[in-house]
Amino acid sequence: MAARQAYRFALDPTPAQERALRSHAGAARFAWNWGLARCKERYAAEGWWYSAMDLHKLWNAAKKADPALAWWAENSKCAYQEAFRDLDRALGEFTRSKKGERKGRRLGFPRFKKRGRCREAFRFGAGVMRCAGATVILPRMGTVRTHESTRKLARRLENETARILSATVSRTAQRWYVSFTCEVKRSIPERHCRPGSAIGVDLGITTLLTGADDQGAIITVAGPKALRASLRTLRRASRAHSRKARGSARRRKTAARLARIHARVANVRADALHKATSGLARRYETVVAEDLNVAGMTRNRKLARAIADQGFGAGVRMLGYKTAWNGGRLVKADRFYPSSKTCSGCGAVKAKLALSERTYNCEACGLVTGRDLNAARNLLSLAASGAESLNACGGAIRPGTAGHVPMNQEPGTAYSGKTGTAARQREAAA
Ligand SMILES: [Zn+2]
Repeated sequence: MAARQAYRFALDPTPAQERALRSHAGAARFAWNWGLARCKERYAAEGWWYSAMDLHKLWNAAKKADPALAWWAENSKCAYQEAFRDLDRALGEFTRSKKGERKGRRLGFPRFKKRGRCREAFRFGAGVMRCAGATVILPRMGTVRTHESTRKLARRLENETARILSATVSRTAQRWYVSFTCEVKRSIPERHCRPGSAIGVDLGITTLLTGADDQGAIITVAGPKALRASLRTLRRASRAHSRKARGSARRRKTAARLARIHARVANVRADALHKATSGLARRYETVVAEDLNVAGMTRNRKLARAIADQGFGAGVRMLGYKTAWNGGRLVKADRFYPSSKTCSGCGAVKAKLALSERTYNCEACGLVTGRDLNAARNLLSLAASGAESLNACGGAIRPGTAGHVPMNQEPGTAYSGKTGTAARQREAAA
């Protein structure tokens, strides 16, 4: 099976390389704005825009004709080309959203990017891209040192089970990262090594993950200490930040600090999630998890932070492709399935479950159990009934069809309404 996979590394560029990175990010922003201005004109007149190809041609003519654009040669042509592609895609998404063909919240017309107010990023779509040891090789940049070893990807490149398609370079919280989009070949086993095994998984905040398997075993992954520690630091830092006056130098300073802690929390959490989900996918053929309404929940800003930190969508996505790699499958429970409110003992459904209730007390049968565990048990009970019947949107993940795109994607779908799990996160966020 060939699937796309992203490999991301933190960079340690030299000062000269850092200048080049900034210059490229600036070029990408300029190209986006330049292209958007052309597209806006045409959209107003004809209701249509220029394709990435058209923009590229227009740009090639303009950059030679206009001496004010002579600096273009300082950057790889990829930076401009890929920005036009992004713009083309954004305009396409805008029209699809307008026609109601796109799930999720309504998209507005793409906007101009302001220096210092947008993400610094650009992409190489061609050229020499490699990695070795603790370095990556990028067009124009040459050999850039990485913070950690790149051996996982290097090994795959060596034995030709991976091919780099593109490299996105971006800056988060004062740090540069490269993310290689690769085509990775994997041999998928015909059948999972433990056929028939199943587990229900509840992804949470206080515990990273609670699982109940078909043998009655309970699995809890508390998340690394480092995560809890940085979450505490994060809470303190965000309180400190909110006390600073808007527009002040102190506020800028605390904002930068906050961003650094956020990035650290996200990294630590992703790391822990990778470890936990890999283990689950190896041990269980069927994994049942809740299909969370991430796009809908991120509308709540307080919640958005908690979700971004915790990466709920990321956990489910990881389970999706990792179960497929192991010859198993992920069953996504319908968003409206009341996994928290249902008693895993007798099946009684509570009308309400207060946000603060961490234990589930059943009035019908007297069962007393942990809230997360109760949810995990309910999810496990769905394993037998098959994915298709569970998933109202037809989004069931079967090996080899979906879920093996382990790329960082925008939350693809949005739903209105709140699920029981959304409420649980609000509690933790508060
Ligand atoms: Zn009960």
